Amino acid sequence: MPDMANLDVNRPEMAELGRQAVEVLADWLEALEESPASDYTSPAGLAERVRRPPGDDPGDFGELVATFLEAAGQGVNTAGPGYLAYFPAGGLYSAALAELLANAANRYTGLAQTAPALVGMEHGVLTWLCERFGLPRGAAGITTTGGSVATLSAVLAARHDRLGEDLSGGTLYVTGHTHHCVAKAARVCGLPAKNVRQVPATDGLRMDVRAAAELIAADRAAGLRPFLLAGTAGTTGTGTIDPLPELAGLARREGLWFHVDAAYGGGFQLTRRGRARLAGIEHADSIALDPHKSLFLPYGTGVLLVRDPALLHAAHAADGDYLQDLNPLDDLPDYANLGVELTREFRGLRLWLPLHLHGVRAFERELDEKLDLAALVHRELAADPRFEVPWEPDLTVVMFRLRDEGGGDGDEGEGGDELNRRLLHEINATRRVYLSSTTVGGRFYLRLCVLSFRTHAHHVRRALRIVRESAGRLADGCLADG
Ligand SMILES: *Cc1c(COP(=O)(O)O)cnc(C)c1O
Repeated sequence: MPDMANLDVNRPEMAELGRQAVEVLADWLEALEESPASDYTSPAGLAERVRRPPGDDPGDFGELVATFLEAAGQGVNTAGPGYLAYFPAGGLYSAALAELLANAANRYTGLAQTAPALVGMEHGVLTWLCERFGLPRGAAGITTTGGSVATLSAVLAARHDRLGEDLSGGTLYVTGHTHHCVAKAARVCGLPAKNVRQVPATDGLRMDVRAAAELIAADRAAGLRPFLLAGTAGTTGTGTIDPLPELAGLARREGLWFHVDAAYGGGFQLTRRGRARLAGIEHADSIALDPHKSLFLPYGTGVLLVRDPALLHAAHAADGDYLQDLNPLDDLPDYANLGVELTREFRGLRLWLPLHLHGVRAFERELDEKLDLAALVHRELAADPRFEVPWEPDLTVVMFRLRDEGGGDGDEGEGGDELNRRLLHEINATRRVYLSSTTVGGRFYLRLCVLSFRTHAHHVRRALRIVRESAGRLADGCLADG
């Protein structure tokens, strides 16, 4: 067995450790097809084992990896095909290998001079994404840990560009369906909560453009300084796309920074249908997207694209005497000056390797399949008179609820919500699928999102069967428990 007391693992040890890890990992991944969608039945001693402090002497690699995989089996199985809650992605194996390569090479990509070709790889993927979103030449971006951090940098750039150092009266515009990361970013950027102005949504759950225009005008008349309009390309709760062309026009007329939160919807830009539905996004000043959602990458992969990277730079650039040896390169970004991190992991490879390895068409095909499957879910549930399915999915989120006993779709109030809460519980208690819920207009809706590259037609049909059977059991009054 390798001598693990030596931190500098040698070549045969690398091969042996890698082989062991990949063997058990492959078993684990292969088992995902049949693994429970959620599991809270902890194996004996696991809770104690995961908390055990490290020993002074080397541990056993096989045992340690086994503990990890046991621990990873606990809770919600977000990697499995039955995960239809929130935003599934799966986590591509090729991206995990990219991670191994990037971390083992451990080059520094915070500033271009220390790793110009690696920064070039990341920059290449990001400028390609800019093109796919129809942003003009010169647009660029940065990879972040997720949509929240991408949004933070977008709000900071907008604030810096439109308000300068005096933040007083600066207001931004969202809806009740906008992700909380916009308000959180505003808070981190020093703006009071009351300056995050909530524009009413239409019955279709989209930002009401006329109401936005009126609110902006009223705020301006009251001496406030509107500076940012945030549209969403696929809201988190309902998957709805705001009217992006109209919002872009409003932002332009009013001199507001136009940010599009495409954290969920962004990946669909690779598909023909997605591009049609996201039309108008090319007018954005900034676009946040989450490859850890709609590009199937592992958690911790977000992207911010900006029309004018000089504005992102102006908002984030910082210097120090300790960096005096490192000079900017002409044609490559210093990522430390475009975002909040100085030292960062090389997230670029996580995008570059899967895209180059599998080819863009593979992603397009997967995403097209998800659009078809969500349409199937909508069709099937809408055809079942027990369910209310009020909105056609813009992308791949379908919301539904059981009608109350009376069968009408009027005000069921609390009773109907309670029934639907029990339905969600009943569905998830099967442990074959895992769904989540949201509240729209004060009413509880179950929410089914098809997005993982591991979720295919037979999984979705099984999920539909489980939804119907669970509804049947509720009606019969025979429940799984409690
Ligand atoms: C998920 C999501 C976010 C937040 O992204 P994180 O990667 O979780 O930080 C922001 N906006 C929308 C629309 C999202 O769906």
